[in-house]
Amino acid sequence: MTRPKVILPGRTFGILGGGQLGRMFAMAAQHMGYKVIAYCPEADCPVSQVCMKTICAPFEDTDSLVTFARQVDVVTLEFENIPAQALEKIQSQVDVRPGASVLHICQNRLREKSYLADHKFPVVPFEKVTGADELKSALKRLGLPAVLKTAGFGYDGKGQKVLDSELEAESAWQTFGGQTAIVEQFVRFNQEISVIGARNASGDFVVYGPIQNEHRHHILDLSFAPASVTWTLAEEAIDITRSLMESLDVVGLLCVEFFVTPQETLLINELAPRPHNSGHLSIEACPVSQFEQQVRAIAGLPLGKTEPECGAAMANLLGDLFQAGEPDWVSAVSIPNVHLHLYGKRQSRPGRKMGHLTALARWADEALATVKSARELLVPSRK
Ligand code: AMP
Repeated sequence: MTRPKVILPGRTFGILGGGQLGRMFAMAAQHMGYKVIAYCPEADCPVSQVCMKTICAPFEDTDSLVTFARQVDVVTLEFENIPAQALEKIQSQVDVRPGASVLHICQNRLREKSYLADHKFPVVPFEKVTGADELKSALKRLGLPAVLKTAGFGYDGKGQKVLDSELEAESAWQTFGGQTAIVEQFVRFNQEISVIGARNASGDFVVYGPIQNEHRHHILDLSFAPASVTWTLAEEAIDITRSLMESLDVVGLLCVEFFVTPQETLLINELAPRPHNSGHLSIEACPVSQFEQQVRAIAGLPLGKTEPECGAAMANLLGDLFQAGEPDWVSAVSIPNVHLHLYGKRQSRPGRKMGHLTALARWADEALATVKSARELLVPSRK
């Protein structure tokens, strides 16, 4: 078998999307001597502050997409909700990694969960719904509580509603504006964990995690690694991630989010074909971060070592923290082994991810306690 072509340092990556995941990818790529051109609809985004050039245009602008594709050697992405027509246009000129077929599946919850179920991966029991009556009958089969989710373009709990009674079905359906949706069982999980796999075009595979995650209001709040799960469960989660990446033929990264049930079984909640918020701790904790790994995977380079060298924890910094004025950065970073990352977003809003803190320690629980204390120090009134 001939080895796939390697994209060497000095060449140019294109990144679709302008958020923090793209920013950290661009920083890692530039460290290794690559150039990065971003394509994003918003001006002054987190990526544009750090990369060589940004094409700021809507995803519907065919001419700009072609101009972008002509200037880069391979394209990757930092969020999956890229319109299909834009991807097709780009893919007709240059490789997109992961490819359009992976994104087609992962950008729609119904397609994603149907793919998982059809390929015998363990997924939260769900049904498709296209109307209020269908929703009511699905609730009878799935049981209550249940979670109604829009099929397309959802993230961080957006487009979701927990239903506690069948009586809520009608009004919930109205609020969803009649879009195709899925309804799934509400899982009373013991833990949430994620595994981030990386795969190159030769089929080499490495993995981060499992990482343990805690959400607040459906948004990731805290992550720590190693997760407190058994070896058996960890190996199972890693095997599932590897099989999924092979089955979808992902070149790049794939994050698989799981619920761990009280019976110690795994149920997949969601897939993300890109770096993941839960993997940010890999920047300080692992020999090769998830962002450098994305570079290596899409460039066809050998994949790097992922095993964490210590316990690590990450706390997200949402816009809410900024409501009482400038957070006290000095106090937080005065704690040994605490690292600050800010994404350069000019405007803070409640729920908006502005940055994160990572703490390293011998053990994960120690790192978790440290990162929580560091975050508390950011709010002056809590000192
Ligand atoms: P999602 O956007 O689907 O990843 O959901 C965000 C978070 O909402 C998850 O990480 C869970 O904490 C919670 N959640 C979503 N779906 C369910 C479910 N079926 N059962 C229980 N919690 C859920």
